[in-house]
Amino acid sequence: MRILVVNCGSSSLKYQLLDMDGERIMASGLMERIGEPIGRVSHRTQTASGPIHQVTFERTMTNHRAAFREAIRQLTASATGAIAGPEEIDAVGHRVVHGGEAFREPTLVDPAVLDAIEKTIPLAPLHNPANLMVINIARELFPYIPQVVVFDTAFHHTIPPHARHYALPWSYYEELGVRRYGFHGISHRYVAREAARRLDLPLKSVNLITAHLGNGASICAIRDGASVDTSMGMTPLQGLIMGTRAGDLDPGVMMYIARRLNMSVDQLEEVLQNESGLKGICGMNDMRDIQKAAESGNERARLALDMFAHRCRHYIGAYAFELGRVDALIFTAGIGENDAHIRAACCGGLAPLGLELDPFKNQAPEDHHGEISAAGSRIKAYVIPTNEELEIARQTVKVVGSLG
Ligand code: AMP
Repeated sequence: MRILVVNCGSSSLKYQLLDMDGERIMASGLMERIGEPIGRVSHRTQTASGPIHQVTFERTMTNHRAAFREAIRQLTASATGAIAGPEEIDAVGHRVVHGGEAFREPTLVDPAVLDAIEKTIPLAPLHNPANLMVINIARELFPYIPQVVVFDTAFHHTIPPHARHYALPWSYYEELGVRRYGFHGISHRYVAREAARRLDLPLKSVNLITAHLGNGASICAIRDGASVDTSMGMTPLQGLIMGTRAGDLDPGVMMYIARRLNMSVDQLEEVLQNESGLKGICGMNDMRDIQKAAESGNERARLALDMFAHRCRHYIGAYAFELGRVDALIFTAGIGENDAHIRAACCGGLAPLGLELDPFKNQAPEDHHGEISAAGSRIKAYVIPTNEELEIARQTVKVVGSLG
């Protein structure tokens, strides 16, 4: 079965074509700066033995429709495409950021589903409109191909009420949907399954703490294979310190800043989304730059690293206590997969909980099947590269397979 996975942002569109007999990537690409005067197209067609064709060029793409058409053009180009035509695609799997209360599972798209996604837009105004637009374009271009939506919030629907709700007037939940939803669910689910495989245990019996540390970052507590708590909230602004997002804050700070600087809600949101987090602390949001700056004596960069790790430890400790028994701690995403210093700092002081890193394994996890914990550590620790596209494709296959 050939699955086209589509993951789009407000000005970008990422895609991957997978042959699910063997879970092989046939082609992948990224369209950037959609709607800007000059956009950028990157595409790669590959075989099992490596890339066979790779292009990067500039092209104006006035909207997501133009970007999607360009992706199809690349996928089906006569000499270099992975397939002869769109009829060779069996299903399209779309990542949708927010599924609200309605969506707990990957779902086959029909008009009622589209209506329900439309209703979630107020909860995710920056993400869901672009997701919805591309689903509509795909339906229009390929009315005969099943489309499946896979939600980043769905994995967290098992979070129990005491961890799900905010202590606000109850009507805000009932009337406005204000509650914790959690994000990065596709990634947390993928690495949880991989971790269970490495532990040689059924997913349904593992307790894990999964740390997705990328430009966006969240930690998830998993009991018996199901999410029971996560650091992100109603929006992806809550929880860990991120590249440009502050994470947890005293809500009083926001009122204070807004009053003192006479800021509108939109201006405040811009600061919280794009000017805070690591960037707010030290002016840089790429962990590689921050590490280099800290090594050369930049004190604010050092502080940013210490604050980032402190917040991670705070959640790891809380979730270890909440779970009672933890089989493994998993690091994933750009920082989690690549930054041994941050991993070590996140695990510092966790020996009383039963977690000890092996400093040598932590420097080269790939040489140890991803394991970075010391031989006697009661809680194992692993680095597991995430693969959201593969998880979306797997879930799409499950939905399409169940159609009979
Ligand atoms: P992601 O959002 O998962 O793509 O992660 C992106 C972030 O990962 C970047 O902003 C970097 O901060 C971080 N990153 C990527 N590679 C490395 C690396 N080799 N060392 C440290 N951080 C890295």
